[in-house]
Amino acid sequence: MTKQISVRNPRTGLADYTITAASADEVATAARGLRAHQGAWARQPVQGRIATLRSLREVFVGRRTELVREIEADTGRRWASEVEVDAVLAGIDRACRYAEETFASGAPSPTADPQIRLSGDLVPYPVVAAISPWNFPFQLALIDAVPALLAGSAVLLKPSEMTPRFVPVLLDCLAEVPGLADVFAVVQGDGSTGAAVIDVADAVCFTGSVQTGRVIARVAADRFIPAFLELGGKDPAIVTGSADLDAASSAILWGSTINSGHSCMSIERVYVDSRVAGEFVEALVAKAERVRLAHPDPGDGQVGPIITSAQVQTIRDQIDDAVAKGARVRAGGSIEILDGGAYLRPTVLTGVDHSMRVMREETFGPVIPVMTFDGEDEAVALANDSEFGLSAAVFAATAEEAMPIAHRLDAGGISINDVCLTGMVPEGEKNSFKLSGLGASRMGPPSVRRFLRRRALLIRDSAGPRPWYYDGASAETVETIDKTENR
Ligand code: NAD
Repeated sequence: MTKQISVRNPRTGLADYTITAASADEVATAARGLRAHQGAWARQPVQGRIATLRSLREVFVGRRTELVREIEADTGRRWASEVEVDAVLAGIDRACRYAEETFASGAPSPTADPQIRLSGDLVPYPVVAAISPWNFPFQLALIDAVPALLAGSAVLLKPSEMTPRFVPVLLDCLAEVPGLADVFAVVQGDGSTGAAVIDVADAVCFTGSVQTGRVIARVAADRFIPAFLELGGKDPAIVTGSADLDAASSAILWGSTINSGHSCMSIERVYVDSRVAGEFVEALVAKAERVRLAHPDPGDGQVGPIITSAQVQTIRDQIDDAVAKGARVRAGGSIEILDGGAYLRPTVLTGVDHSMRVMREETFGPVIPVMTFDGEDEAVALANDSEFGLSAAVFAATAEEAMPIAHRLDAGGISINDVCLTGMVPEGEKNSFKLSGLGASRMGPPSVRRFLRRRALLIRDSAGPRPWYYDGASAETVETIDKTENR
């Protein structure tokens, strides 16, 4: 029986779109099709794959308006939808460069044994599963798929069932590039389709929650396939007493509320030196109150609707929990329903502590809880008191002053005197710490390299002394030894 999934419109709250989930059989058929074509895709010189991905880029440029329109329908915001498309275009350029470098052939190198040269080749995982979330639906659907294709893998993508409206345009784009749809298939559906995708893949790239990541890690371990997991965060920002408070408050407000706070590397905890906390909070609140909602026009304002109803509930629960435990709401604080969409103005909380959910669990909404510290050791201890380790930020008068603090933080990417740079500067290789992820970096050159296994080719060149028992010239000697030993 086919499974229909209704999709909520974030601006109206109405379920006005439906997708049909692919069954396990359909997923298996798609994977067989990919396997049939992957060998030829991988055997061509990398320049062939680069040319194909560059063609896809051109198609995206030509259909930019349609793509932005559908991503906007999925997410309810415009500016971030435009940014997503631009990020994908830049991502293709970057991955093409990395692919070229990765495959630049190295001549065989000598080894400690003068008769043996070392060579090798790179062998892609045949079928890579890419499973993506709803917060940046287009960008995160392609962030692993593009480098995997360039490595020579075929890709089976399962986008989020919460934001699937962009998928038909994506499929049209793929169909316009000769040969690409043979090695890049997209299946729609929820977690059960995602599970079926992993069952037929040779490697899995997953972006989503820790909860699902854990399930996927177990399945992948059972199947002995690599799992590249990019999971949730609870990023801290530390504001030292010497920091430029005007800059810090502007950056933190932006980094906490961009894309309605639906961003894995959004700032979700702020620790400020108690000596400057009053001044910092005053500046933050004044700026938070000036931020406008992207309503009624999605192109207006800065903060769009909360995309899923589950997230509305999580955000509301965390604010209620904090207030019940003594937190003070300094700006925002209550979810507003406008034309059926749920919005939250930037919400500044003070009087928070680590007993509150808002300081421990991912919020994924425009909430900025601010806590004070006395001394660098306390700041570092508070920032590290989290099961997440995605990224972080440190503000100080100079980078030199911030650096020793940054070196003590348990997170994979630290922005100094700014926020979210790990997302904005994709050249920076980084790993996710703690529960925020697993596996090689999706940023920088490893974004392509991680889909390739190195096969060593060890070449014996000339007939010198060899360690074999029955080797030509020395055969008699070996026989003599054998007889002696058998006596
Ligand atoms: P989610 O875990 O609910 O779902 C993500 C994807 O997994 C969806 O496509 C879903 O259908 C699929 N899925 C669910 N169960 C599955 C299963 N058993 N097997 C296979 N696939 C399954 O996450 P979400 O709510 O869509 O996304 C939000 C989360 O993503 C947040 O925690 C956010 O921090 C995280 N995220 C992380 C990064 C990063 O780079 N670290 C980036 C963006 C989002």
